[in-house]
Amino acid sequence: MSKAPSIWEWILDFFWPTRCAFCGEMIAPNKSCCTQCRQKLTPCPPLTLTCLDACFVFTDYSLDVSHAVHRFKFQNHPQLAKLFARMICDRFGTELLDLHPDCICGVPMHPKKKFKRGYNQADLLAKEMARLLNIPFVPLLEKTSNTKEQHTLSAAQRQQNLIGVFQTAMPEKVCGKHILIVDDVITTGATLNECALALRASDAQWVGGVAFAHPILPPKQSETSSSAKNPEA
Ligand SMILES: [Zn+2]
Repeated sequence: MSKAPSIWEWILDFFWPTRCAFCGEMIAPNKSCCTQCRQKLTPCPPLTLTCLDACFVFTDYSLDVSHAVHRFKFQNHPQLAKLFARMICDRFGTELLDLHPDCICGVPMHPKKKFKRGYNQADLLAKEMARLLNIPFVPLLEKTSNTKEQHTLSAAQRQQNLIGVFQTAMPEKVCGKHILIVDDVITTGATLNECALALRASDAQWVGGVAFAHPILPPKQSETSSSAKNPEA
């Protein structure tokens, strides 16, 4: 449970009000999300991806969720990693720990893209989950090619775009291990599948995926022009 805000927090909040990460309404300074939005988040059923042993997703990629993810990735709100990780761990923490992961890593970003954005949101989410679950965060993967943005491509092209672009940075830490890969959003699953293939090439024993959101219904073609609605950017 979050502690009550201090007087200083209330004063700061008067000038710079805290807003709900999802709907943007003003909320108490010690909160990140309003009660209505928290209740509205639709749970996402477990996904089956060909190269993963298990895959957990917290919520449907609804319009409000897409706004929050857009703030996280494109509007310099890296602190949202704490909220998303806490939501994921509150729901799946026990289940994830029962799978005995040896470590947790984020989907890597090409260094040029990371430099441009200033952070890799998947790594921030993975680090925060590692802290909450008390599992080591290890940056096991690297992306060797600065590929086209996934959201500009069809499902088949997305798969093709990523073939062979991930590799294990520390194969000795992968062999025989149970590994959790974290991403903010799963769309087609092409990214997590390719990451899992790279880990399996280094003899990982078990590979699971975790994400904050996934569109339960596939996005309409007409909705694929803005990055807010195109999560794999
Ligand atoms: Zn809200």
